[in-house]
Amino acid sequence: MSTRAKPRVLLMHPILDPGPSILAEAAEVVTYPPDKPLDEASIRTAAEGCIGIVSQLMDPIRETVLSTPGLRAVSNVAVGYDNIDVPAATAHKVMVTNTPGVLDDATSDFAFTLLMSTARRIVEADAFTRQGRFRGWAIDMMLGADVYNATLGIIGIGRIGRGVAHRAKGFNMRVLYYDPNPLPPDAEQQLGASGVDLGRLLAESDFVSVHVPLTQETHHLLSTAQFAQMKRTAILINTSRGPVIDEAALVEALTAKKIAGAGLDVYEREPAVHPGLIPMTNVVLAPHIASATVRTRSEMSAMASRNMATAVRGGRPPNLLNPEVKR
Ligand code: NAD
Repeated sequence: MSTRAKPRVLLMHPILDPGPSILAEAAEVVTYPPDKPLDEASIRTAAEGCIGIVSQLMDPIRETVLSTPGLRAVSNVAVGYDNIDVPAATAHKVMVTNTPGVLDDATSDFAFTLLMSTARRIVEADAFTRQGRFRGWAIDMMLGADVYNATLGIIGIGRIGRGVAHRAKGFNMRVLYYDPNPLPPDAEQQLGASGVDLGRLLAESDFVSVHVPLTQETHHLLSTAQFAQMKRTAILINTSRGPVIDEAALVEALTAKKIAGAGLDVYEREPAVHPGLIPMTNVVLAPHIASATVRTRSEMSAMASRNMATAVRGGRPPNLLNPEVKR
């Protein structure tokens, strides 16, 4: 029997079954101390001697970490990978992987959950009822916005954007989308979605739902000028990444009643939430849980672990983002 030690992999945060056993078959798993800060210098120190890092979206994996000698792979337990500097990884011949596809349904469901709960004021209504303030039916109590037959504008018609469009069909919504990579005509027809420019989408939509990756181009994609183009009755939904929306400008737009409400899962400076949002009853706030179902989080853990196990064994991981590293 070989006594050769298995390569070491740094697991930044706990993951769900069956992830740990998939990882343990391929590598010696070293866990990141939970009391250690999540800064690049500390992550690099912990990664010394490791061939791989299993990271999550709050871990900054950039030059300092990626230049660790011997590091060969970073497996992010997320579809978004804006926390990783992929060009720097490529320069250091470090493979980067993510978990696309397995979270589409959970995330699309959640975007719709936020849309419905903001439109029909469900969080406010729940608090009202629990506080014993329901004293009888009233014709003008808790009036909300119609969802059925309304116009939905989807910014970014990728996997999750398409999932949201698909759900909107059941509500007979008119679906507009904006994406620099438009859908082929047959896919547009199948989804009942029409590609338009961003200005038209903002001007015509009752609900605007954001599904773009965070990049230099999408940073503050929606700010003061864009909110001014929206209907005063419109509701904004964000389950993508916080910095896609200029949060201070959003607070201003909501305060000035330029738009009617917002349903947010993500924030510009997570886990901090802009204090201006906290007292607003026309805003529904969630703590970045769009993919948080038992099945989805388990599948994300398994997929990220398989990506890492394949890389550790010298193979090409299925969800490789920089294939030029591994020909
Ligand atoms: P995807 O790559 O399938 O789709 C993204 C789409 O955005 C693509 O069609 C792309 O062309 C489009 N796009 C890029 N730049 C754009 C721009 N400037 N304007 C308009 N469209 C643009 O990605 P996906 O799997 O659908 O995921 C989208 C994002 O959602 C992820 O990158 C991630 O950050 C976020 N996400 C968040 C959660 C959560 O827990 N809240 C869960 C899953 C995904």
